[in-house]
Amino acid sequence: MAGMFSEFYDRLQEPLRNLLREGTPWDCPDFPISPETEAALKALRWDVQSDTARAEVFLFRAAEDREERHQGRIYPVVPVYATSICTESCLYCNYRRGNREGVERVRLGTKELEEEIHYLIRTKGYRVIELVYATDPGVTAEDIAEHVRLAGHMLSGAGGGITALNGPSLSEEEYRLLAGEDIGFVALWQETYDEERYRELHPPPGRKHDFRNRLDAFDRMLRAGISRIGMGVLSGLADWRYDWAMLLLHEEYLQRTYGRGPAVLGIPRLKPAPGATEITGYTPTDLEFRYAVAIHQKYRPDCYPFVNTREDWSLCMDLASGGGCLFTFNCSTIPGGYTRRHRGSQFFSHDFEGPLFREAAARSGLKVGLPWSGGNGGGEEHKSPTPRDSALHGSHGS
Ligand code: SF4
Repeated sequence: MAGMFSEFYDRLQEPLRNLLREGTPWDCPDFPISPETEAALKALRWDVQSDTARAEVFLFRAAEDREERHQGRIYPVVPVYATSICTESCLYCNYRRGNREGVERVRLGTKELEEEIHYLIRTKGYRVIELVYATDPGVTAEDIAEHVRLAGHMLSGAGGGITALNGPSLSEEEYRLLAGEDIGFVALWQETYDEERYRELHPPPGRKHDFRNRLDAFDRMLRAGISRIGMGVLSGLADWRYDWAMLLLHEEYLQRTYGRGPAVLGIPRLKPAPGATEITGYTPTDLEFRYAVAIHQKYRPDCYPFVNTREDWSLCMDLASGGGCLFTFNCSTIPGGYTRRHRGSQFFSHDFEGPLFREAAARSGLKVGLPWSGGNGGGEEHKSPTPRDSALHGSHGS
């Protein structure tokens, strides 16, 4: 696609690999980068495992910086899966086409989706709903828009909130349709920026096999008028340093081209899933993973990492330390998992139940905050606490 990130991708690989391997200064005349980006790329080279004590000091200071900026404030987001029916074949995912092991194929109707959202808003007190979709041919962009309106209406009835989306990559026209809705952010994970690994892990015939199409999804979103995007890689599919480094270049490209980068940083790390192909040898250690997230926060402090229940509580606390992140407590990754007793999961994840874990977060110095206005990737936007903060605190007993 002319004029999009895929046009630059080939030219970025060699200078990036040279920088990561040898520390060679960035040398790509067609794609100059800011000194901050170059510094972040170079920082990713550091082998933190070779001096773990020094790495912990770095991470402690990074958390202190976040505390100063965010006063320990975190923003709860709860995922609501709408469908587990999928035409894609991502080897690491339980929902991949053709898998029969430990999978429940469910597509929620409007009434069922409404019940899930109602429960999470009214019983659990959430005000940021992330609608999540597999690549289901039975769910159109119009259906997603209708779901967004439904969630928005229900949140309005509870005093307001935010609806976010995480689903398949769409066409510019489909994103344009969604841009007309009230959406907090649209997230899409690149999975990996290593093209060869990407093609192996996402075999045809699905559209996701098209690496270049996925690379350009963020151009399509921004051109369509979606202003808040969520970007990230699934750490563990390929060389994590290369993936995180190319992500930074991708952000640099978007910032320069559209004047904005991501508002949300997805930080999924590969976990086992029933019926999935085992992938080993690429997953960053806890320390490397925390370091990569901290480097990104230093580079782009107005982009909030999305701390998620793939990780155990202790690591979630480490990642959230100081605040300035989205945070998942309750989590079901099967449609109807909250109210309809559907069982199964897209991948292994924890479920940190309501008041109990909110109190535990408070004991770690974290404060649950709402509303979160999403930031814009180009400037801090998060607001001061409002009465809605109190509503959330009340409903969760924290
Ligand atoms: S990762 Fe997403 S697109 Fe791939 S198989 Fe799983 S649900 Fe489908």
